[in-house]
Amino acid sequence: MSTIEKFNKHVVQSYGRFPLVMEQGSGRRCKDEDGKEYIDFGSGIGTNSLGFCDEKWADAVCSQVRTLQHNSNYYYTAVQAEFAEKLCETAGYSAVFFGNSGAEANECAIKTARKYSFDKYGKGRHNIITLVNSFHGRTIATLSATGQDVFHNYFFPFLEGFINVRANDINDLKEKIDDTVCAVMIEYVQGEGGVNVLDKDFVNAVFELCGEKDILVIADEVQSGVGRTGKFLAGEYFGKKADITTLAKGIAGGVPMGACLMNEKCKGVLTKGTHGSTFGGNPIACAGGLAVLERITSEGFLDEVCKKAEYVKEKLSECSEVESVSGLGLMMGIALKSKKAVDVAGKCLEKGLLVLTAKDKVRLLPPLTISYDELNDGLKILIEILEE
Ligand SMILES: *Cc1c(COP(=O)(O)O)cnc(C)c1O
Repeated sequence: MSTIEKFNKHVVQSYGRFPLVMEQGSGRRCKDEDGKEYIDFGSGIGTNSLGFCDEKWADAVCSQVRTLQHNSNYYYTAVQAEFAEKLCETAGYSAVFFGNSGAEANECAIKTARKYSFDKYGKGRHNIITLVNSFHGRTIATLSATGQDVFHNYFFPFLEGFINVRANDINDLKEKIDDTVCAVMIEYVQGEGGVNVLDKDFVNAVFELCGEKDILVIADEVQSGVGRTGKFLAGEYFGKKADITTLAKGIAGGVPMGACLMNEKCKGVLTKGTHGSTFGGNPIACAGGLAVLERITSEGFLDEVCKKAEYVKEKLSECSEVESVSGLGLMMGIALKSKKAVDVAGKCLEKGLLVLTAKDKVRLLPPLTISYDELNDGLKILIEILEE
């Protein structure tokens, strides 16, 4: 039986997969089981931030596997302490809770916001405002938080307590931000929603209104965080620091991890026994995370990410089929004039380039370590297909 046959027989078919079996990767290139090579403009989905099997990252992970692969959260490990310290320092937060995915990081943020409010104000102030077209994950709570009707099917009843506001509509926000609200949850750059950057005025209004009423701001930076946009956090572009920021995807270079960062106000909210995760803060994931942090905080690394992003934007803007390019840094959405994004992604695959889509856009999340040569090789394929 072929891999695809075996797969389809035994793995739940909840994804629309391309007929391709990936076998091995190195740097920004990977190979399928037939030996065909691909340039990577997707990084998994923004997870392989240092590319495939980066040597220092792999050494750190393998060495941890051979030292202590797991330990329950009833004991301490040095590697979790070290990663937590470096992550909090780099991001500018007081404390972190570790989970294993973006959805879990957001679950932690939701629980923290509700308990913060309950502890201080009692019952009835549990609503969380999220934005239309947002994406926060696939668990029942994070699906309920996600502001897209297409996700609100089949799995009824969804969780109560989420109110949707139209992104960039300050009046809508003002109307809905009442005494029942404990938090506003935003993505500075809506990733799955089509790589849409929020307006500065809207973000300012969110922080201002929340500040006045002791309502928490939660920034879901699961996709935009950890250097993806050329800043450590996308919030830096707005000059803002949310009370809670969630990270996942690229945080540990391809090992599962989610992190919920909290400021001084929130760090004491989750007390003993109120939250947990068996695998959260797993030593292997923390070792991977440390290797990622070390690289992206090295001198000049993020400036280079910004320069590469400008280069890609410039090249794409010269292409006749490109309507516009949205996003920040190496988190990009390409709006097309006449072609369909899914068709373009399929054709790229045939020609040896991995790209993603987001709504009707072609989405690029290349590894942050990608070289100009690799960008050129990939862009040549993409632009040829777009101009066909
Ligand atoms: C991917 C994503 C999530 C969900 O992360 P998982 O690791 O798949 O649970 C949540 N929020 C945003 C903004 C994302 O891009």
